[in-house]
Amino acid sequence: MAKILITGGAGFIGSNFIHHVLQTYPEIEVVNLDALTYAGNLANLKDIEKDPRYTFIQGDITDEKCVNRAFKEHQPSVVFNFAAETHVDRSIHGPKAFIMTDVLGTYTLLEAVKTHATPLYIQISTDEVYGSTHDGEFTEESPFLPNSPYSASKAGGDHLVRAYHHTYGLPVIAIHSCNVFGPYQFPEKVIPRFVTNLIQGKKVPIYGTGQNVREWIFTQDFCHALDFVWQKAKPGEVFNIGTGQRIPNLELTTKILHLLEKGSDQIEYVADRLGHDFRYALSAEKIRALGWKPTYDFDAALQLTVEWYKTHESWWKPLLPNSSL
Ligand code: NAD
Repeated sequence: MAKILITGGAGFIGSNFIHHVLQTYPEIEVVNLDALTYAGNLANLKDIEKDPRYTFIQGDITDEKCVNRAFKEHQPSVVFNFAAETHVDRSIHGPKAFIMTDVLGTYTLLEAVKTHATPLYIQISTDEVYGSTHDGEFTEESPFLPNSPYSASKAGGDHLVRAYHHTYGLPVIAIHSCNVFGPYQFPEKVIPRFVTNLIQGKKVPIYGTGQNVREWIFTQDFCHALDFVWQKAKPGEVFNIGTGQRIPNLELTTKILHLLEKGSDQIEYVADRLGHDFRYALSAEKIRALGWKPTYDFDAALQLTVEWYKTHESWWKPLLPNSSL
């Protein structure tokens, strides 16, 4: 039976993707290597923890011995690297962990892919590496102009991925996605933070004037896009994954307030984030030309997400002590 290695599988997108793979491919086994930082949560995988096709290894992607042991023992046919420090605000307060995991961790995985001749490595990265744009869209050829320690660390890892393909011929694919949202997202990120604040009767903090624009994809659509790239793409390729669903943060907040029947008096404007990127916008023409397209309408997916947080208080309440800086 083919095995795949997923790093960071106890986080938001990784755990959604593990569910997707186990449900979609009965012949595939999944190995999840995760350090269980504050963002890693085995409760996301409770329903599949006893599945004979699932193995969990607690380990750090910067730990060469641990990584090599996992590659040697499981001989994965593909590695999906989700493991990362991911919260921009935390990167502003403490960049080192980001450089360690997002750069050194990526290097450690690439070395293991080289040593063990792993057939495919897929790097999950972000639109934030392209920087900010007032108009237009970023294509896969746009230069990297990262502005936060988070995006700079992700860009560093992505550059290594490209270089390992160019120099050593490693079979790698890189993905740059817009903002992902949905169930199991840690309540420090904007959508779950605002929803859980409002459920608790608290206000929602908006940076600056709330005019910063983000592009959004529902987690189910993202998992399908990733699966699509895995099945269709050739090593050495780079793909943007975007939906064109772009809205200012204030409009997003208004939608969440409406879904939870709250008024705009629940908004609290706070000092802007340092170096706050104004707008992200991806051209997803390349993956669309291959036949992928998103299936969820943003408003419908936002409603599903709000409902999920309303009905899963026992999942997010224990995470609140770790969800602010
Ligand atoms: P997350 O913060 O929810 O989860 C990250 C996971 O990685 C956690 O389980 C954590 O324990 C694990 N981890 C962290 N450091 C590790 C280390 N050194 N070794 C092993 N495991 C470690 O993140 P997410 O939102 O699920 O994002 C997953 C990936 O997708 C990241 O690489 C992120 O940059 C990328 N991405 C996310 C988004 C988004 O909107 N969430 C958008 C684009 C790209």
